[in-house]
Amino acid sequence: MPSYLRPHLRQLAGYLPGEQPRGGRFVKLNTNENPYPPSPLVLEAIQRCLDGEALRKYPDPQASEFRATASRVLGVPPEWILAGNGSDELLTLLVRAIVPPGGTLVAPTPSYTLYQTLAELQDARCTLLPFDDEWRLDPRRVPQGASLTFLPNPNSPSGSFLSPADVATWPTPLVLDEAYVDFAPAHGLDLARATDRVIVTRSLSKGYALAGIRFGYLVAHPAVVAELSKLKDSYNCDVLSQAAATAALADQEWLRSTRAKVLATRARMEKELAGLGFQVTPSHGNFVWCRRFDRPVRPIYLALKDRGILVRCMNYANYGEGLRISVGTDPEIDRLLTELASVLR
Ligand SMILES: *Cc1c(COP(=O)(O)O)cnc(C)c1O
Repeated sequence: MPSYLRPHLRQLAGYLPGEQPRGGRFVKLNTNENPYPPSPLVLEAIQRCLDGEALRKYPDPQASEFRATASRVLGVPPEWILAGNGSDELLTLLVRAIVPPGGTLVAPTPSYTLYQTLAELQDARCTLLPFDDEWRLDPRRVPQGASLTFLPNPNSPSGSFLSPADVATWPTPLVLDEAYVDFAPAHGLDLARATDRVIVTRSLSKGYALAGIRFGYLVAHPAVVAELSKLKDSYNCDVLSQAAATAALADQEWLRSTRAKVLATRARMEKELAGLGFQVTPSHGNFVWCRRFDRPVRPIYLALKDRGILVRCMNYANYGEGLRISVGTDPEIDRLLTELASVLR
């Protein structure tokens, strides 16, 4: 490795995303993509951009149309909204803006491991707060002087959820990562509206079935949005993704009906997986976290992969391993359950 690269970068392993095999070879239940196609209005909006005039020009750096639509749908003024190239970009911007090198970033565990990677990239420390057996966290364990805390709600891989009243007791500055909020019983936008010390990030990847276009947004006090805007690439969201995200948010009826289907399948998965001997955490996301104490789960993951079904096997220090299985269509989940029963026989 060339020695002119910064040492903290050379030592870093980097974030390891879930496998993304191309083609339709697998039933893909490993990265929490929505199993249903996005709203037809999204496809029409992208079609309308496919002319030379729209593609010749730079996109709107402020994503104004998206922010106007999001403002109407969320009941939040547009100055409180910042669009990003996936919510991951917004998480990166927040760390760069708030956590100095040598500072402390706080995140729960087991959780989204990108937070730790972002701390390492910033040459900052990361303090991990362990969940207890009931998937509760103790906010009093956030160290004094921490620069920033990330709280994904619902959490991944557990699918567990903290009520807004719980979240309101947390030390700030606090980022509520609401990537899975579209499947949850409540949200934290009121907390972000009440103080400039709470920021909510959202994703179009899961709830709106747009993981392929890369679009997310955050809701924060306009003074925070203004500072983060200086840090972002001028043209961080392209013409096609802005059109797609705007059409997606405008179609709340699509979201309602898709959520209902995902939640029904999720309930069935929880029951059937428990029946197959898994310890299942009740989920508020579009995935189910299951563990076993009678046998290791990695061989189950490998056997499923052999049979063309991809799930995520995750292993956390001081916790152990489990399988995170995304909610698929009903036929996909039928296949998963049949193959699992056969693997476990
Ligand atoms: C998927 C996910 C994200 C990233 O979403 P993108 O908008 O696709 O970048 C962020 N946080 C959590 C907890 C996620 O699971």
